[in-house]
Amino acid sequence: MPATPPDLTLYDPFTGMRFAQHCFLCGTPTPQASDSVLVFDQWLLSRYQLAGLQIKLLDQSVLAYKDLRMPCCPTCKHNHVEPLEHTVAAAVQAGPTALRTLDEKTLFLWLGKMFYGVMLLELLNELDPLAKPLYPLAENTQLLRKLQCFFEVFQALRIPIEYEDFTPASIFILETAAPEDTMPFEYDDDLSTMTFSIKLDETVLVSCLIDNGLLRQAMGRVYRDAQRPLHPIQVAEFKARVYYGAYLLNVVPDYYPRPVQPGDTHLVFDTLIDDVTREIFNPWENSGYAQSLQEMWKRWQIPVTEIMRDPQQPLSYLYDADGQPRTMETWAGIAGQPT
Ligand SMILES: [Zn+2]
Repeated sequence: MPATPPDLTLYDPFTGMRFAQHCFLCGTPTPQASDSVLVFDQWLLSRYQLAGLQIKLLDQSVLAYKDLRMPCCPTCKHNHVEPLEHTVAAAVQAGPTALRTLDEKTLFLWLGKMFYGVMLLELLNELDPLAKPLYPLAENTQLLRKLQCFFEVFQALRIPIEYEDFTPASIFILETAAPEDTMPFEYDDDLSTMTFSIKLDETVLVSCLIDNGLLRQAMGRVYRDAQRPLHPIQVAEFKARVYYGAYLLNVVPDYYPRPVQPGDTHLVFDTLIDDVTREIFNPWENSGYAQSLQEMWKRWQIPVTEIMRDPQQPLSYLYDADGQPRTMETWAGIAGQPT
Protein backbone atom coordinates (compact mmCIF):
# COMPACT_ATOMS: atom_id res chain seq x y z
CA MET A 1 0.00 0.00 0.00
CA PRO A 2 1.48 3.35 -0.94
CA ALA A 3 2.25 5.72 1.92
CA THR A 4 -0.11 8.64 2.32
CA PRO A 5 1.34 11.58 0.43
CA PRO A 6 2.38 14.38 2.76
CA ASP A 7 0.12 17.38 3.12
CA LEU A 8 1.85 20.17 1.22
CA THR A 9 -0.66 22.88 2.09
CA LEU A 10 1.05 26.01 3.35
CA TYR A 11 -0.40 27.89 6.29
CA ASP A 12 -0.53 31.65 6.74
CA PRO A 13 -1.37 32.79 10.28
CA PHE A 14 -0.94 36.43 9.28
CA THR A 15 -4.09 36.57 7.22
CA GLY A 16 -6.54 37.39 9.96
CA MET A 17 -3.73 37.45 12.55
CA ARG A 18 -4.74 34.09 13.95
CA PHE A 19 -2.25 33.46 16.71
CA ALA A 20 -4.21 32.66 19.87
CA GLN A 21 -5.64 29.17 20.30
CA HIS A 22 -4.37 27.95 16.96
CA CYS A 23 -1.42 25.64 16.41
CA PHE A 24 1.53 27.86 15.52
CA LEU A 25 2.59 25.50 12.76
CA CYS A 26 -0.59 24.32 11.04
CA GLY A 27 -3.41 26.51 12.37
CA THR A 28 -5.50 23.70 13.87
CA PRO A 29 -7.61 25.11 16.72
CA THR A 30 -6.05 24.38 20.10
CA PRO A 31 -8.76 25.18 22.66
CA GLN A 32 -6.92 23.46 25.52
CA ALA A 33 -4.06 25.29 27.18
CA SER A 34 -2.26 21.94 27.29
CA ASP A 35 -2.15 21.94 23.49
CA SER A 36 1.10 23.85 23.52
CA VAL A 37 4.87 23.52 23.50
CA LEU A 38 7.54 25.33 25.46
CA VAL A 39 9.36 28.04 23.53
CA PHE A 40 12.57 27.01 25.33
CA ASP A 41 12.19 23.26 25.57
CA GLN A 42 12.26 21.32 28.81
CA TRP A 43 15.73 19.93 28.13
CA LEU A 44 17.08 23.50 27.97
CA LEU A 45 15.27 24.45 31.18
CA SER A 46 16.74 21.43 32.98
CA ARG A 47 20.23 21.54 31.53
CA TYR A 48 20.73 25.26 32.17
CA GLN A 49 18.48 25.59 35.24
CA LEU A 50 16.28 28.18 33.61
CA ALA A 51 12.99 27.23 35.28
CA GLY A 52 13.25 30.01 37.87
CA LEU A 53 14.56 32.65 35.48
CA GLN A 54 12.59 35.26 33.60
CA ILE A 55 12.73 37.19 30.37
CA LYS A 56 11.40 40.66 29.69
CA LEU A 57 9.14 41.38 26.76
CA LEU A 58 8.97 44.61 24.79
CA ASP A 59 6.06 45.94 26.84
CA GLN A 60 8.25 45.43 29.93
CA SER A 61 6.14 42.54 31.18
CA VAL A 62 8.19 39.75 32.65
CA LEU A 63 7.63 36.05 32.06
CA ALA A 64 9.34 32.97 33.46
CA TYR A 65 11.05 30.71 30.92
CA LYS A 66 8.91 27.82 32.13
CA ASP A 67 5.74 29.77 31.27
CA LEU A 68 6.78 30.64 27.72
CA ARG A 69 4.55 28.42 25.66
CA MET A 70 3.04 28.59 22.21
CA PRO A 71 -0.10 26.86 20.98
CA CYS A 72 0.69 23.59 19.20
CA CYS A 73 -1.60 20.73 18.16
CA PRO A 74 -0.68 17.20 19.34
CA THR A 75 0.21 16.12 15.78
CA CYS A 76 2.72 18.91 15.17
CA LYS A 77 4.08 18.51 18.67
CA HIS A 78 4.66 14.80 18.28
CA ASN A 79 5.72 14.69 14.63
CA HIS A 80 7.68 17.90 14.22
CA VAL A 81 8.61 19.81 17.37
CA GLU A 82 9.67 16.91 19.60
CA PRO A 83 11.91 15.24 16.99
CA LEU A 84 13.64 18.57 16.32
CA GLU A 85 14.25 19.17 20.02
CA HIS A 86 15.53 15.60 20.44
CA THR A 87 17.99 16.03 17.60
CA VAL A 88 19.44 19.26 19.00
CA ALA A 89 19.41 18.05 22.61
CA ALA A 90 21.37 14.94 21.59
CA ALA A 91 23.90 17.06 19.72
CA VAL A 92 24.37 19.41 22.67
CA GLN A 93 24.75 16.42 24.94
CA ALA A 94 27.39 14.97 22.63
CA GLY A 95 29.44 18.16 22.66
CA PRO A 96 30.40 21.16 20.50
CA THR A 97 31.59 19.11 17.54
CA ALA A 98 28.25 17.35 17.22
CA LEU A 99 26.41 20.64 17.49
CA ARG A 100 28.65 22.15 14.85
CA THR A 101 27.96 19.33 12.42
CA LEU A 102 24.18 19.58 12.63
CA ASP A 103 22.89 20.56 9.25
CA GLU A 104 22.05 24.19 8.72
CA LYS A 105 18.36 23.58 8.13
CA THR A 106 17.99 21.87 11.51
CA LEU A 107 19.71 24.77 13.23
CA PHE A 108 17.63 27.29 11.32
CA LEU A 109 14.39 25.56 12.30
CA TRP A 110 15.45 25.18 15.91
CA LEU A 111 16.55 28.80 16.32
CA GLY A 112 13.52 29.85 14.31
CA LYS A 113 11.16 28.00 16.62
CA MET A 114 12.41 29.89 19.68
CA PHE A 115 12.54 33.20 17.85
CA TYR A 116 9.01 32.73 16.53
CA GLY A 117 7.83 31.67 19.97
CA VAL A 118 9.12 34.85 21.58
CA MET A 119 7.66 36.90 18.74
CA LEU A 120 4.32 35.15 19.16
CA LEU A 121 4.23 35.97 22.84
CA GLU A 122 4.85 39.60 21.99
CA LEU A 123 2.03 39.56 19.47
CA LEU A 124 -0.39 37.72 21.76
CA ASN A 125 0.43 40.13 24.54
CA GLU A 126 -0.41 43.03 22.29
CA LEU A 127 -3.68 41.57 21.22
CA ASP A 128 -4.63 41.62 24.88
CA PRO A 129 -6.75 44.79 25.21
CA LEU A 130 -5.14 45.66 28.54
CA ALA A 131 -1.60 45.67 27.21
CA LYS A 132 -0.14 48.99 26.18
CA PRO A 133 3.03 48.16 24.28
CA LEU A 134 5.52 50.92 23.57
CA TYR A 135 6.19 49.78 20.02
CA PRO A 136 3.25 47.70 18.87
CA LEU A 137 4.48 44.96 16.54
CA ALA A 138 1.01 44.38 15.16
CA GLU A 139 1.03 47.91 13.72
CA ASN A 140 4.50 47.61 12.27
CA THR A 141 3.70 46.57 8.71
CA GLN A 142 7.32 46.24 7.63
CA LEU A 143 8.12 43.92 10.48
CA LEU A 144 4.98 41.89 9.90
CA ARG A 145 5.94 41.43 6.28
CA LYS A 146 9.39 40.19 7.33
CA LEU A 147 7.84 37.85 9.82
CA GLN A 148 5.46 36.57 7.18
CA CYS A 149 8.39 35.84 4.82
CA PHE A 150 10.23 34.14 7.63
CA PHE A 151 7.20 32.00 8.39
CA GLU A 152 6.99 30.80 4.78
CA VAL A 153 10.42 29.16 4.93
CA PHE A 154 10.08 28.22 8.59
CA GLN A 155 7.17 25.95 7.67
CA ALA A 156 9.80 23.45 6.61
CA LEU A 157 9.44 22.32 10.22
CA ARG A 158 6.09 20.75 9.26
CA ILE A 159 6.09 20.44 5.49
CA PRO A 160 8.94 18.89 3.49
CA ILE A 161 10.38 21.96 1.80
CA GLU A 162 13.54 22.20 -0.24
CA TYR A 163 15.22 25.58 -0.56
CA GLU A 164 16.51 25.80 -4.11
CA ASP A 165 20.07 27.17 -4.05
CA PHE A 166 19.75 29.30 -0.95
CA THR A 167 19.76 29.15 2.82
CA PRO A 168 17.16 31.36 4.49
CA ALA A 169 19.37 32.57 7.34
CA SER A 170 22.90 33.50 8.28
CA ILE A 171 24.00 31.21 11.06
CA PHE A 172 27.29 31.74 12.88
CA ILE A 173 28.76 29.19 15.26
CA LEU A 174 31.34 30.43 17.73
CA GLU A 175 33.25 28.85 20.57
CA THR A 176 34.23 30.49 23.85
CA ALA A 177 37.54 29.96 25.61
CA ALA A 178 37.36 28.61 29.13
CA PRO A 179 39.24 30.87 31.58
CA GLU A 180 36.74 33.73 31.84
CA ASP A 181 33.66 32.08 30.44
CA THR A 182 31.25 31.96 33.36
CA MET A 183 27.87 31.75 31.64
CA PRO A 184 26.72 28.33 30.45
CA PHE A 185 23.55 29.83 28.97
CA GLU A 186 22.80 33.20 27.47
CA TYR A 187 20.06 34.35 25.16
CA ASP A 188 19.26 37.59 23.41
CA ASP A 189 17.29 38.71 20.41
CA ASP A 190 16.39 41.72 18.38
CA LEU A 191 12.90 41.19 17.09
CA SER A 192 12.94 44.07 14.61
CA THR A 193 15.96 42.72 12.72
CA MET A 194 15.05 39.10 13.42
CA THR A 195 18.40 38.42 14.98
CA PHE A 196 18.74 35.79 17.65
CA SER A 197 21.57 34.43 19.72
CA ILE A 198 21.82 31.59 22.18
CA LYS A 199 24.78 30.24 24.13
CA LEU A 200 24.87 26.55 24.98
CA ASP A 201 27.87 25.76 27.16
CA GLU A 202 30.91 26.80 25.09
CA THR A 203 29.01 27.08 21.81
CA VAL A 204 27.39 30.34 20.77
CA LEU A 205 24.89 30.38 17.92
CA VAL A 206 24.14 33.75 16.34
CA SER A 207 21.67 34.14 13.53
CA CYS A 208 19.97 36.67 11.34
CA LEU A 209 16.94 34.63 10.41
CA ILE A 210 15.75 36.43 7.29
CA ASP A 211 18.71 37.45 5.15
CA ASN A 212 19.28 34.50 2.82
CA GLY A 213 22.82 34.26 4.15
CA LEU A 214 23.83 37.78 3.02
CA LEU A 215 25.28 38.79 6.35
CA ARG A 216 27.40 35.68 6.54
CA GLN A 217 28.73 36.44 3.08
CA ALA A 218 29.46 40.04 4.04
CA MET A 219 31.19 38.92 7.25
CA GLY A 220 33.18 36.17 5.59
CA ARG A 221 36.60 37.30 6.78
CA VAL A 222 35.57 38.18 10.33
CA TYR A 223 33.79 34.85 10.64
CA ARG A 224 36.80 32.91 9.37
CA ASP A 225 39.07 34.77 11.78
CA ALA A 226 36.68 33.94 14.62
CA GLN A 227 37.02 30.20 14.14
CA ARG A 228 39.01 29.69 17.35
CA PRO A 229 38.15 29.75 21.04
CA LEU A 230 37.24 33.34 21.85
CA HIS A 231 37.12 35.34 25.05
CA PRO A 232 33.46 36.20 25.90
CA ILE A 233 34.20 39.87 25.23
CA GLN A 234 35.31 38.90 21.72
CA VAL A 235 32.16 36.86 21.22
CA ALA A 236 30.15 39.90 22.33
CA GLU A 237 31.99 42.02 19.75
CA PHE A 238 31.21 39.51 17.04
CA LYS A 239 27.57 39.60 18.07
CA ALA A 240 27.58 43.40 17.94
CA ARG A 241 28.76 43.16 14.34
CA VAL A 242 26.00 40.71 13.45
CA TYR A 243 23.28 42.70 15.22
CA TYR A 244 24.42 45.95 13.66
CA GLY A 245 24.83 44.36 10.24
CA ALA A 246 21.31 42.97 10.46
CA TYR A 247 20.11 46.44 11.31
CA LEU A 248 21.71 47.75 8.12
CA LEU A 249 20.12 45.07 5.97
CA ASN A 250 17.89 46.85 3.55
CA VAL A 251 16.19 44.02 1.68
CA VAL A 252 13.68 41.32 2.51
CA PRO A 253 13.81 38.16 0.41
CA ASP A 254 10.75 37.02 -1.49
CA TYR A 255 9.99 33.33 -1.54
CA TYR A 256 8.12 31.48 -4.25
CA PRO A 257 6.81 27.99 -3.74
CA ARG A 258 6.72 26.14 -7.05
CA PRO A 259 3.29 24.85 -8.10
CA VAL A 260 2.57 21.40 -6.72
CA GLN A 261 2.27 18.56 -9.24
CA PRO A 262 0.31 15.37 -8.51
CA GLY A 263 2.56 12.91 -6.71
CA ASP A 264 4.93 15.56 -5.35
CA THR A 265 6.40 14.60 -2.01
CA HIS A 266 7.86 17.98 -1.14
CA LEU A 267 7.66 21.65 -2.01
CA VAL A 268 10.44 23.56 -3.70
CA PHE A 269 10.98 27.23 -2.84
CA ASP A 270 12.78 29.71 -5.03
CA THR A 271 13.87 33.06 -3.77
CA LEU A 272 14.52 36.51 -5.12
CA ILE A 273 16.20 39.50 -3.56
CA ASP A 274 15.78 42.91 -5.06
CA ASP A 275 19.35 44.15 -5.20
CA VAL A 276 18.76 46.13 -8.39
CA THR A 277 16.59 48.99 -7.21
CA ARG A 278 18.13 49.17 -3.74
CA GLU A 279 21.37 48.61 -1.86
CA ILE A 280 21.49 45.39 0.15
CA PHE A 281 23.04 47.10 3.17
CA ASN A 282 22.74 50.69 4.29
CA PRO A 283 26.14 52.34 4.85
CA TRP A 284 28.06 51.29 7.96
CA GLU A 285 28.42 54.08 10.50
CA ASN A 286 30.85 53.70 13.36
CA SER A 287 28.66 55.73 15.70
CA GLY A 288 25.77 53.30 15.19
CA TYR A 289 28.04 50.30 15.48
CA ALA A 290 29.46 51.72 18.72
CA GLN A 291 25.99 51.67 20.26
CA SER A 292 25.63 48.05 19.34
CA LEU A 293 29.05 47.36 20.91
CA GLN A 294 28.13 49.21 24.08
CA GLU A 295 24.96 47.16 24.38
CA MET A 296 26.76 43.86 23.88
CA TRP A 297 29.58 44.88 26.22
CA LYS A 298 27.16 45.87 29.01
CA ARG A 299 28.65 43.25 31.29
CA TRP A 300 32.09 44.89 31.02
CA GLN A 301 30.71 48.41 31.34
CA ILE A 302 32.79 50.00 28.62
CA PRO A 303 31.67 53.59 28.06
CA VAL A 304 31.00 54.71 24.52
CA THR A 305 33.75 57.35 24.88
CA GLU A 306 36.27 54.51 25.27
CA ILE A 307 34.75 52.59 22.39
CA MET A 308 34.98 55.67 20.17
CA ARG A 309 38.35 56.95 21.35
CA ASP A 310 39.40 56.61 17.71
CA PRO A 311 36.25 57.52 15.77
CA GLN A 312 37.70 55.93 12.62
CA GLN A 313 38.35 52.64 14.37
CA PRO A 314 36.07 51.72 17.25
CA LEU A 315 37.57 49.63 20.03
CA SER A 316 38.11 46.02 19.04
CA TYR A 317 39.13 42.92 20.92
CA LEU A 318 38.86 40.69 17.86
CA TYR A 319 41.54 42.62 15.97
CA ASP A 320 44.63 44.53 16.98
CA ALA A 321 45.55 47.99 15.68
CA ASP A 322 47.16 46.42 12.59
CA GLY A 323 44.02 44.49 11.76
CA GLN A 324 45.45 41.14 12.86
CA PRO A 325 43.31 38.73 14.90
CA ARG A 326 43.99 39.17 18.62
CA THR A 327 44.44 36.36 21.05
CA MET A 328 42.99 37.02 24.50
CA GLU A 329 42.99 34.78 27.53
CA THR A 330 41.85 37.30 30.07
CA TRP A 331 40.39 40.76 29.96
CA ALA A 332 42.65 43.28 31.68
CA GLY A 333 39.99 45.97 32.14
CA ILE A 334 39.60 49.20 30.22
CA ALA A 335 43.05 50.36 31.33
CA GLY A 336 44.55 47.31 29.68
CA GLN A 337 42.85 47.83 26.38
CA PRO A 338 44.74 48.12 23.13
CA THR A 339 45.87 51.56 22.11
ZN1 LIG B 1 -0.38 21.67 14.19
